[in-house]
Amino acid sequence: MDIKTVMVVGAGQMGSGIAHVCAAAGYNVFLNDLSVALVEKGLDGIERNLNRQVAKERMTELEKANSMERLSPSIDLNDAENIDIVIEAATENMEIKKSIFTKLDEIAPQHAILASNTSSLPITEIAAATTRPEKVIGMHFMNPVPVMKLVEIIRGLATEDHVYETVEKMAKTLGKVPIEVNDFPGFVSNRVLMPMINEAIYTLYEGVATKEAIDEVMKLGMNHPMGPLTLADFIGLDTCLYIMETLHKGFGDDKYRPCPLLRKYVKAGWLGKKTGRGFYEYG
Ligand code: NAD
Repeated sequence: MDIKTVMVVGAGQMGSGIAHVCAAAGYNVFLNDLSVALVEKGLDGIERNLNRQVAKERMTELEKANSMERLSPSIDLNDAENIDIVIEAATENMEIKKSIFTKLDEIAPQHAILASNTSSLPITEIAAATTRPEKVIGMHFMNPVPVMKLVEIIRGLATEDHVYETVEKMAKTLGKVPIEVNDFPGFVSNRVLMPMINEAIYTLYEGVATKEAIDEVMKLGMNHPMGPLTLADFIGLDTCLYIMETLHKGFGDDKYRPCPLLRKYVKAGWLGKKTGRGFYEYG
């Protein structure tokens, strides 16, 4: 199948990054969120990042202008009536995702693929909210999308081979490296990463070390480019909590219980870099 038009649902950190790379690769993109202000915030972020690419001579002014031209703002899922693929990147919450997929299933053309950028939620369950589970798939980009190479591609129980192949091919046209994984909570990336982040939060909670010390240990001792608490702030503490809850519920194993300090920060609205405060403060 030839993909020309994409809708990205959710214009937050991930959705705007996904829309950016799709537009830069030549796809026409609707960027959808709940309000004009949220979509505009996403588009402003894309423009800033494209400007940075021009400044670094990785892109010309003309290529930037063409990319911006391919992006259309959307606050109505009915804009999906002529798209070939949706990549959903809304908040990490099963009820929100199911409601979006049910609506899109009614609106999008029969051939359209419905992909989710979920970090941890079962693709098979999201697919069951539609009448086309064979066309539902996980397309899990990493943050920041324009920089990170990996896309985990997750088949749901019913995902057809040609849908997998189309998505794999699209990921390659975006300059990404697709890796196939099976549909288990957290897939591979977050099943391995998130318990480490949660344990780092426990070491802070239990007073084992300061946040700076925990991050330095992991950077200098394990050669991680960024400490786990800084990384949690970049991912978003609400997203980290949703993922831990998905792992906890999905496996029924207490080794995945979210740290109470993580819950407290999320309740306080300290969601990390995106809200200006998480474990650290951001100007
Ligand atoms: P975010 O909070 O920055 O953005 C989420 C956006 O979704 C918000 O702008 C919100 O208004 C919008 N939204 C919520 N309900 C909506 C609806 N019904 N229709 C349209 N838009 C809606 O979150 P994010 O970090 O961009 O994460 C989005 C998704 O990407 C989540 O599923 C998350 O697990 C996944 N993800 C996140 C990361 C990361 O590092 N942050 C990495 C990979 C995948």
